Amino acid sequence: MIKGKGFMGKVLVVDLATREIKEEIIPEKIYQTYLSGMGLGAYMLYKHIPAGADPLGPENMLGFVSGLLTGSGSLFTGRWTLVGKSPLTGGWGDANCGGTFSPAIKRCGYDGIFVRGISETPVYLYIDDKVKEVRDASDVWGMDTVQTERFFRKDAKGRRPGIACIGPAGEAVSLISGVATDNGRMAARSGLGAVMGAKRLKAVVLAGNQRIGVVNRKEIKKISAICNKWVQFQPPFMTATMMAATGALMRVLPSVMAQDGLLYKIMLKKWGTVSMNQMSVEMGDSPIKNWKGSSKDWGMFKSHSSNPDVFTKCEQVKYHCYSCPLGCGGICSTSGKFSETHKPEYETVLSLGGLLLNKDVDAIFYLNEVLNRAGMDSISAGHAVAFAIECYEEGVFTKADTDGLELKWGDSASIVALIEKMVKREGIGQILADGVKQASLRIGKGSEEFAVHAGGQEPAMHDSRNDPGFALHYSVEPSPGKHTVGSGLYYEMFKLWQVVDGLPSVSPLYLKGSKYKADEEKAVIGAANSRFMNVVNGTGTCLFGSFLGAKRIRIFDWINAATGWSLTPNEYMEVGANVQTLRQAFNVRHGIEPSQFKVSERALGRPAQKEGANKGRSVEIEAMMRDYWAQFGWDPETGKPFQKTINDLEATL
Ligand code: SF4
Repeated sequence: MIKGKGFMGKVLVVDLATREIKEEIIPEKIYQTYLSGMGLGAYMLYKHIPAGADPLGPENMLGFVSGLLTGSGSLFTGRWTLVGKSPLTGGWGDANCGGTFSPAIKRCGYDGIFVRGISETPVYLYIDDKVKEVRDASDVWGMDTVQTERFFRKDAKGRRPGIACIGPAGEAVSLISGVATDNGRMAARSGLGAVMGAKRLKAVVLAGNQRIGVVNRKEIKKISAICNKWVQFQPPFMTATMMAATGALMRVLPSVMAQDGLLYKIMLKKWGTVSMNQMSVEMGDSPIKNWKGSSKDWGMFKSHSSNPDVFTKCEQVKYHCYSCPLGCGGICSTSGKFSETHKPEYETVLSLGGLLLNKDVDAIFYLNEVLNRAGMDSISAGHAVAFAIECYEEGVFTKADTDGLELKWGDSASIVALIEKMVKREGIGQILADGVKQASLRIGKGSEEFAVHAGGQEPAMHDSRNDPGFALHYSVEPSPGKHTVGSGLYYEMFKLWQVVDGLPSVSPLYLKGSKYKADEEKAVIGAANSRFMNVVNGTGTCLFGSFLGAKRIRIFDWINAATGWSLTPNEYMEVGANVQTLRQAFNVRHGIEPSQFKVSERALGRPAQKEGANKGRSVEIEAMMRDYWAQFGWDPETGKPFQKTINDLEATL
């Protein structure tokens, strides 16, 4: 076992059917090849899940994996990755989450906890420094995620364990359910809550107290102090109206000014992710009305209901994930059934707001808490409602199909009713609770045209017609539809060319039209985003922290200081490539054709919109996908790694 290098050197593997609990030692070479977090997850899943395993069956393995830098004294590095074969896409699944669960995994002495098998009855997993047990969970089965955490905290007698759990959506094996920690932080994507529910695993409760050692803590602290200076820089003059006006200006200008992540950091620190609400709508970044509308349908007057100040007004206290000096989260007081909720994120506000033309902010606050407690992905839930409304509008659904509900854009009462039904899998909720692809397959009647997804997963609230980089990453990622991997904008903010040799820099001012032409440089940029984000997710770093730019948040230097390695940024980018290839090989092994993950035609501007910020735009996605695959040395026609690449990779396992 390896001690004192940032990582713990072992994982725990639990079989819920046999109750066998085993440690698996992970050689240092594996961390050097794949890091921890996402990469260690890929290593374990590739090794242990047989080809063709049912995502909801006993052979699937679900992993809770900490970041290599978590607990090292570095900043923004308290995030963990949930991994498993996704029942939503049929391939590789991952979801990322902040809060305090990531250090709790390592304090139990492990980099990851992996579960397989299916328990006959509801159980939870309890781990501390001495005890590792699968325990009966019949008392908590049926509780929502907040009640579940409260139950285990009461039981912890003064200690503060890390708790990850599912709510009723996961128990009901909804394919758009996730796993919650910290009373509503969600590892929401890929439908992995359904995997946990199918295993009848209600919660993982971690109460260890072990030390997380590193090689050079002094150096880590020195780098952290530099990073923190940038985080604390905060000019006082920015207003929410200025943000909306900036978005409108960005819409009308023919050129784009390359973005510096320091600006986004300032917005995040003041408002959190909701800072983007109106700005995104105005500039065409936020999909409106199930991706067929625009800011013409949801202009300043309507989107003003989700002005960032609306959300900070009721913020009682700021919320920081572990080791985060920024604190983009918040706990808000609300009226109505729930007295408080985590401040809704941009993704939630817009998927329950602009995507549905809903300007009822009270309903958004309420649904935010309903979904967090149910353990359901708000991006997917918003898309499912948008799909249902369009089905109703187009005559695919009648009142007989909707349990008597009249579905209309912007009608918050029916939106609330639909989501409550989805959580309970009741009536029409039974059809919608597995996401839009499954719903359209069940309904037929041409409804697939209204189902916006990539490989079965609903894309995030960033319009791929505004930034084709999102179209690319929605379509080529092994877990498709996710916004947390890359885009043209992200690359501008990562500023990787400042530290990685051979990457193109971005011109401070460029023509908007140039974004839409597929060319080799865009493929290089896309591949660099994917490689880098595997390093980010391997270390447990927050994407928002990474936006500060490579010279202000020195992730590569932190890794070397923690581990004692002396790899260059270019070598770490190769580590990121290893992880990407392993995840892609996982998909191929499980029968996925990579081209099938292409995001829906509507999100590609096919046909192009006739009005709004994205008027006339369409994305050359097929060429972009081919060029991207070639960057990894995979077959550019199929997106599959060549057999020799797979053989080489399997030799490392
Ligand atoms: S910036 Fe926000 S999401 Fe990221 S670590 Fe900090 S609090 Fe968590």
